[in-house]
Amino acid sequence: MTAPSIPNLPGLSRERLKTLFAELGEKPFRAEQVMKWIHQRGVLDIDVMTDISKVLRERLKQFTEIRMPTVVEDYASDDGSHKWIIEVASGSRVEMVFIPEAGRGTLCVSSQVGCSLDCSFCATGKQGFNSNLSCAEIIGQLWWANKQLGAFVDGAERQVSNVVMMGMGEPLLNFDNVMDAVNMMMDDCAYGLSKRKVTISTSGVVPAIEAMRHHTDASIAISLHAPNDELRSQLMPINRKYPISELLCAVRSYMESLPDKRVPVIEYTLIAGVNDHRQHARDLAVLLEQFPCKINLIPFNPFSPCDYRRPSGSSVTNFRQILQKAGYTVTVRTTRADDIGAACGQLVGDVADQTSRSDRHKNKAAKEAGKVFEASGNQAKATDNLAVAADRL
Ligand code: SAH
Ligand code: SF4
Repeated sequence: MTAPSIPNLPGLSRERLKTLFAELGEKPFRAEQVMKWIHQRGVLDIDVMTDISKVLRERLKQFTEIRMPTVVEDYASDDGSHKWIIEVASGSRVEMVFIPEAGRGTLCVSSQVGCSLDCSFCATGKQGFNSNLSCAEIIGQLWWANKQLGAFVDGAERQVSNVVMMGMGEPLLNFDNVMDAVNMMMDDCAYGLSKRKVTISTSGVVPAIEAMRHHTDASIAISLHAPNDELRSQLMPINRKYPISELLCAVRSYMESLPDKRVPVIEYTLIAGVNDHRQHARDLAVLLEQFPCKINLIPFNPFSPCDYRRPSGSSVTNFRQILQKAGYTVTVRTTRADDIGAACGQLVGDVADQTSRSDRHKNKAAKEAGKVFEASGNQAKATDNLAVAADRL
């Protein structure tokens, strides 16, 4: 049996912290105090948390820890974007990207080291899967961005207004940690972001989309990239397990479960000569006729080794116009930060485990996707760890 890990305070949601304090015989409001110190004031030293009694601070120091991932590189783009390289516990490095725009600042956050799903157009997918990030390593990206951008200084305005889980990895294959992290992003005792501004992007892990309603009310974006199953399966192996009709059905149910009216974003990466013909646009318009959504077109970002090409400006315009004429709200993602290798799909980080991709990834994408609820065992494990740690107090 492996030794239980010590509870890491930044990675504990409000509910989990309350459980911890209950086990310590403390009042639930302690959870809110600790969250505010860490996530709103940026404090990682328990001794600085002066509204907590000295006795309790000593117990926290003895039986819990505060461990954040570390920023090891900061690349600043000419356009004001940043790419930060984060080192996580496994020694691997992942990437997050901050994109400032008029009236908002978007942080693109990673959820895994690598990705098992092997989409043919994605640099992260080419690495294969290495490991899941812990909740602290996911929320720690937002913490670091705030710190780097000066948000913890008294009176400073927060620059990160939006978070998109569009960095490295498939968020819904790291379900429990991602759910806890996005809920903390929206928690008023932590970052207090609007649920319309925290978006989980998924390639379509259907059982996990079905489960989301029980765990969060964050917004969702779907990586579709093709108007039919044949083409989508060629680009995204996960489609062989969860075809388009099942995916749209699961997303519709999730949207209907939300207390407010919101629509999902359909992401469509345009690859020259592959999925960017006018007929693809017309087929997409028909496919989504009865499916309320916004469409975001992403011109393919090239990387090596990958032979796909970026479409011409006119082909992107034609595609967009066909969809707009059919009545859709369409945005085209402007490429930002590609001078620092931080555009969509270019994130690769640095995997500590150099085992070959094929060895690490004997499991095929669809098989991995089917395992999502085995992965949910994490939740039980984390709770066990708390209970065991509390027993020792
Ligand atoms: N795994 C999740 C989130 C990470 S990928 C998902 O697939 O949705 C974030 C977005 O970048 C996805 O829409 C993905 O399809 C897109 N993307 C990946 N590689 C790309 C590339 N080379 N060029 C443009 N977009 C890319
Ligand atoms: Fe994974 Fe998303 Fe890249 Fe596909 S596009 S390989 S799901 S990170």
